[in-house]
Amino acid sequence: MPEVRRTVIAPQSGESFSVRRGDMIRIIDPQGQQVADLWAFVIDGPALDWLSTSQTRDITEKMFPKVGDRFYSTRGEPLLTLVEDASPGPHDMLFPACNRWLYERAGLPDHPSCQDNLVKALEKAGITLPAIPDPVDFFQNSLPAPDGRLDVHASINPPGGYVALRAERDLLLVVTACSVDFHPTNGDRCTEVVVEISK
Ligand SMILES: [Zn+2]
Repeated sequence: MPEVRRTVIAPQSGESFSVRRGDMIRIIDPQGQQVADLWAFVIDGPALDWLSTSQTRDITEKMFPKVGDRFYSTRGEPLLTLVEDASPGPHDMLFPACNRWLYERAGLPDHPSCQDNLVKALEKAGITLPAIPDPVDFFQNSLPAPDGRLDVHASINPPGGYVALRAERDLLLVVTACSVDFHPTNGDRCTEVVVEISK
């Protein structure tokens, strides 16, 4: 049996993970309807680089990732491949992570947010970002309507639904269990996300 590093990300929080090229990463939603935001950073290159959802949309010519698709960096380097999707999806690549300003607009100052949880997780790893990249929002049910509207509906991911990714180079990953609890995004409640990393 391969060794598996298993981490439970508490509701409304985030964690960072170092992975090596070839590692497999499973992002699991144990209770269902919980969005998991993913960022990936190249920290061993000539300059800090990261997963870019806009480059990924451009290079894959898709708005939403499917099995076999890769996720690309700001320089167009493949960082991760989606190798298995044991969820009904969809997986968003259009939205920013939830952030303090979104919560302030909703009348919820000092609310936890995925952006703040990203920054905290990176601080622990000794990294300061010049800007906040947009994440891949796994299990986020926000497909565009035919008229172009972008409504976020409750996730349809069932308990235990997961995605599996392969690292295409050494990376620092950050995964957050999305903090939205005033809107149906996460099924009206925030729950944990589990990350399993294996060789
Ligand atoms: Zn969030």
